[in-house]
Amino acid sequence: MCYNKLMKTYIVGNWKLNFTVGEASIYLHKLLKAMPNYRDIDVIVAPSTIALQPLSLQVDRHKIKLAAQNGFYRDYGAFTGETSFSQLRGIVDYAIIGHSERRYIFREDDKMVMRKVAAAIRNKITPILCIGETESERTFGETADVIRDQLSGGLSEVGDDDIDKVIIAYEPVWAISSAKSAKLATPDEVADAVALIRKTLKDLYGKAGENVPVLFGGSVNPSNAGAYLTVPGVNGLLVGGSSLILSEFVDIIETAKRVR
Ligand code: PEP
Repeated sequence: MCYNKLMKTYIVGNWKLNFTVGEASIYLHKLLKAMPNYRDIDVIVAPSTIALQPLSLQVDRHKIKLAAQNGFYRDYGAFTGETSFSQLRGIVDYAIIGHSERRYIFREDDKMVMRKVAAAIRNKITPILCIGETESERTFGETADVIRDQLSGGLSEVGDDDIDKVIIAYEPVWAISSAKSAKLATPDEVADAVALIRKTLKDLYGKAGENVPVLFGGSVNPSNAGAYLTVPGVNGLLVGGSSLILSEFVDIIETAKRVR
């Protein structure tokens, strides 16, 4: 039996701004039907905020868990248009925080990301903290600095007692399918970055940092999922575009069952 968090595999589908509530509900229905209950794989989907509440009534949480794509760090107040983690509490188990689209389109900096991570934990929601360098940062040899800064910045309100409540996703911005000229990351590039993430977590949290799951995301699809899932130190995948196609997402989950 494997209930060590690191032995678990996490497959997360980030639906971004896609699917109406009705479409999301039909997709979830089909996904629930298509999937057996894999006890060692956590399948997580992140629909739009508006779909979360109805889907939370529909989902079988033994099989699939829900994630928010975002949330606000204050619990209530004069913040027009925002949804707080306290409102999401009980509806989702996870929240994607610090996604590159939030960092670069909506100008979220490490301070904002750090506050959101803390707010998610405060509200019993597991943050999936996304970090990763842009293409130009990689070209200028800044990858290691960016990874260290985003990791330590995003976690700066997380104490030793809470680090076991966090998941990290390494998502090089240049490998995300929506990037202008997206390139596939090689398994070796992923391995190097993940090793650095693990070292940084150990430097920051000692032994407790060793148990933090680290996922990879960036143009994952059924034909490359197996290669990324067998990179040392990788505990799962964050999947964007391919998670919108039910057969591909199921294929990725089945690949995880096969190779892990
Ligand atoms: C993402 O946006 O988190 C992502 C990994 O997208 P894609 O799989 O489409 O590259």
